[in-house]
Amino acid sequence: MALNVEKIRNDFPVLSRKVYDHPIAYFDNGATTQKPQQVIDTIRRYYEEDNASIHRGIHYLSEKSTETYEKARETVRKFLNASSTNEIVFTSGTTGSINAIAFSFGEQYVNKGDEVIISEMEHHANIVPWQMMCERKGAELKVIPFNEKGELILEEYEKLLSKKTRIVAITHISNTLGTINPVKEIIGMAHALKIPVLLDGAQAVQHENVDVQQLDADFYVFSGHKVYGPNGIGVLYGKEELLYEMPPYQGGGDMVDCVTFEKTTYNQLPFKFEAGTMNYIGAGGLATALDYITDLGIEDIREYEDSLLEYATGKLMSVPGIEIYGKAARKISILSFLINNIHPYDAGMVLDKLGIAVRTGTHCNQPVMDHFKITGTLRASLAFYNTKEEIDRLFEGLQRIIKMFG
Ligand code: PLP
Repeated sequence: MALNVEKIRNDFPVLSRKVYDHPIAYFDNGATTQKPQQVIDTIRRYYEEDNASIHRGIHYLSEKSTETYEKARETVRKFLNASSTNEIVFTSGTTGSINAIAFSFGEQYVNKGDEVIISEMEHHANIVPWQMMCERKGAELKVIPFNEKGELILEEYEKLLSKKTRIVAITHISNTLGTINPVKEIIGMAHALKIPVLLDGAQAVQHENVDVQQLDADFYVFSGHKVYGPNGIGVLYGKEELLYEMPPYQGGGDMVDCVTFEKTTYNQLPFKFEAGTMNYIGAGGLATALDYITDLGIEDIREYEDSLLEYATGKLMSVPGIEIYGKAARKISILSFLINNIHPYDAGMVLDKLGIAVRTGTHCNQPVMDHFKITGTLRASLAFYNTKEEIDRLFEGLQRIIKMFG
């Protein structure tokens, strides 16, 4: 069913504010999304009515709070179609999740001379934790290149896979190029050699139905704030048999079973990976956000966003001097581009004064910029609450910039 965008926009209070006397046109959704009133209300209600630390209390509020937190875990399980809540660990975000896996998996399974495969289009959050782990363990990082359209070269991937490969960690969807990677194929190729695969879903779960069992992903991670939920909460999905064998990466609080000075034993899954007072309010807010987009229908969201992408791409391509980076056959509503030799910061600042929020710079994708031999781009990442009228404003803004800077 087609989305009622006008009605949806009313759910997002921030969208009705003005910036420099202009209505805001928010195109920075790849960095973070705006929050619907439903999520804001959940967080407020939680603080007003039920706030108490989870798991450790026997009093009423603690039980209520624990119930909300564990219900949120079940909402995430259902959202990803994981087979058990034991496979859903709450973290601080995608970065937190990848660091946790890189450390813990590395401790258990990676040794000197082993290899880890990532790709050239990874966000720094899916590069640096692996580099740190490889350095610690004496392992080597291997990188799958992408072609000029921004698609991973699978023949090169095939060449990199070997008996030495311990794990493959790939972004499901690129945050700069918008490319939707052929993750099922990537996983299949790795599994043929019994190599587990981590998918970075930070840019995927808000645009695609993700079914971790159907994908057969070994690890899947995402952030609450990029999927219309609160900041500071994220998800680490891991297959139970893998998580079971992996050691905890942080000590303290809920992750323990019994502590003595001689020895500590650890809690069961998923609590083994949840040390300290968790962000239970964030988990509750995330569950509301996931329910919100599920109710809208992720396929309907995608269909509408695809129509925005097509419209915006057509508009940008009609302007001589605009170069788009990321032309994959399968991509989501992310447009990275440059205008002639105008510096992206200059262009971004002019757009800002017109009430148009885009991102400028490397988008935590320095290797992608190096690939194209550029220092950064402008990036408009579109969400289901954006409109063609807003894209027209972006287009007019860009024409104005071209006139201003010659
Ligand atoms: N991975 C991808 C593909 C991203 O786009 C981002 C954020 O932009 C991250 C990882 C890091 O997410 P977070 O900062 O929420 O941990």
